[in-house]
Amino acid sequence: MTLENASLAPTPDRPVCRFAPSPNGYLHLGHAYSALLNQLFAEKSGGRLLLRIEDIDPERSRRHFETALLEDLGWLGLVWEDPPRRQSAHMSDYRAALDELSRRGLAYPCFCSRAEIVQAWGQRTEWPRDPDGTALYPGTCRDLSPAERVSRITRGARFSLRLDMTKALAETKTQLNYREFHESDDGVVVVAEPVLWGDALIGRRDVPASYHIACIVDDDIQGVTDVVRGVDLEAATGLQRLLQALLGLKTPVYRHHRLVTDEQGRKLSKSKSAISLRDFRTRGATPDNLRQKLARRMGRTL
Ligand code: GLU
Repeated sequence: MTLENASLAPTPDRPVCRFAPSPNGYLHLGHAYSALLNQLFAEKSGGRLLLRIEDIDPERSRRHFETALLEDLGWLGLVWEDPPRRQSAHMSDYRAALDELSRRGLAYPCFCSRAEIVQAWGQRTEWPRDPDGTALYPGTCRDLSPAERVSRITRGARFSLRLDMTKALAETKTQLNYREFHESDDGVVVVAEPVLWGDALIGRRDVPASYHIACIVDDDIQGVTDVVRGVDLEAATGLQRLLQALLGLKTPVYRHHRLVTDEQGRKLSKSKSAISLRDFRTRGATPDNLRQKLARRMGRTL
């Protein structure tokens, strides 16, 4: 298989972008900014806007949050092509990608719990961490024999799937790049740095998928050419770029945008109860008020 730098290929005539919220809370101003930038990009480029519901997490995803986000986005004036793609209905696509990586020896079952991973780093007070701040995997299960793996699985041990980063990098051989625009019209070519993620978790214990796998598989299936999303996901792009190369999937152009922050400069978060779009609505705000507020806060037109 040849792994090429698809990132530098010309983009098709009609760009496709997607807004991809997770239904695990109510949308806030940060989501509104991302959704509006997607819409703006689609309008400006004569492209299409798709919606994707990222609901692979069975513990945190809730149907009522999905209903609420559809209502809130509609209120905001977002117009997407129906029907949205709901990830929980496409698990077999993600499983197939993971099966392929396992079959080629690029993914392996990991039986460690989070506590065991931390323990494996011993008495240190600081562990090497990935860009999200999670302790890197120390490789405990990487070299288990095939017989030991089968025996643990037959005994019902639960496992996740990890990418064997060394083997994956050896397979790609060339340096991987992608094109990044941020919020501007001038793109730069960025060198992907998947190695920062170590033996990343690519299949969860509870579902045959992970955010990274589901994201790149869907971006490819949905024909996404331009990923407009928050800069908090920029580091993840390095790992996603590697997975795209390994699986022969297309690499979109990336347009990571700034994050909306609160008065103290902190990123808004669903769990830290940032004011939701529905709160703004119930307080009588109109979609125009909200757009203007965001445009002022971010210093740009929307
Ligand atoms: N579902 C992710 C979120 O809500 C977005 C992922 C993406 O755009 O790639 O933060």
